[in-house]
Amino acid sequence: MQSSQNVEVQAPVDDSEVFTCQMCGQCCRGQGGIVVSPTDLARILKALGMDEASFRERYGEMRGGKLQIRCGDDGACIFFKEGEGCTVHAGKPDVCRAWPFFRGNIVDAESFAMAKDYCPGIRRDADHETFAREGRAYLKKHGLLSRDGASGGWAVVLDD
Ligand code: SF4
Ligand code: SF4
Repeated sequence: MQSSQNVEVQAPVDDSEVFTCQMCGQCCRGQGGIVVSPTDLARILKALGMDEASFRERYGEMRGGKLQIRCGDDGACIFFKEGEGCTVHAGKPDVCRAWPFFRGNIVDAESFAMAKDYCPGIRRDADHETFAREGRAYLKKHGLLSRDGASGGWAVVLDD
């Protein structure tokens, strides 16, 4: 795991032409998929001021061989609070930083159309070609592209 001393705890920058988060919390309510890569783990531990064992016990679960953030009884991510949003914003994992620019939405127009229905932050007049171009640029600019789905989320694995 990356040392928590070397990792930066910084809120994501919302600077895309085709997306501005509306803080509706919709994407924090789905079950599963909030993968915590080793780099994510270092960041979130630093943000929370916790040790790894306590984090795993209180907030984590293993799914498909990967550490993920657990959901609460309401089905939302355990860090999501109604009216407040993400309570670990600056320490959130890369998959949360990358949404809606997931590989599926970038490579597939139908997935993009569904994402647009689901996420009000995607500009209503954005077409798929523009979204895909901007999305790739956004992931690259913010260091969110990955080639390693084995330890992180497959959603952010793309050729640059
Ligand atoms: S669904 Fe979209 S607009 Fe709503 S919180 Fe998630 S990213 Fe933001
Ligand atoms: S870590 Fe934050 S942004 Fe990610 S799913 Fe949980 S509440 Fe939402």
